[in-house]
Amino acid sequence: MKNLKNFLEESKLKVTPQRLAILKEIDKKGHASIEEIYEKIKDSFPSISLATIYKNINALKDEEIICEVCLHQKPKYELKKESHAHFICKKCGKVEDVPFNDIVRKEINKTYPNTQKELYIYGICEDCKKKNKC
Ligand SMILES: [Zn+2]
Ligand SMILES: [Zn+2]
Repeated sequence: MKNLKNFLEESKLKVTPQRLAILKEIDKKGHASIEEIYEKIKDSFPSISLATIYKNINALKDEEIICEVCLHQKPKYELKKESHAHFICKKCGKVEDVPFNDIVRKEINKTYPNTQKELYIYGICEDCKKKNKC
């Protein structure tokens, strides 16, 4: 298991129980929106507000501990990891990581230098495909 506390200790941010809880949620879900994080941790932190989570998310983003995945709907956040593409289900909005290999990345870098590389693949996820059959 990842030591989420290390991420904070290596950054300029103070280790707080709220920040740890936010990171834990993101780690567990893979990709989580602010609302999803809020729903999960408000029981443990009754005084926490959406605005507090938003502020913490921004701080974690500035320290490059997490990344924003810009979707057509609401942004989701994930722990910083190797660059990868995202599969997004058009039906339920589920996000999955898709490995994105170095060769492809270098090719894209050559063709489109100095651009932000974000690759999104849109489709219907396995769950939604199954549901449609019933
Ligand atoms: Zn789906
Ligand atoms: Zn991802």
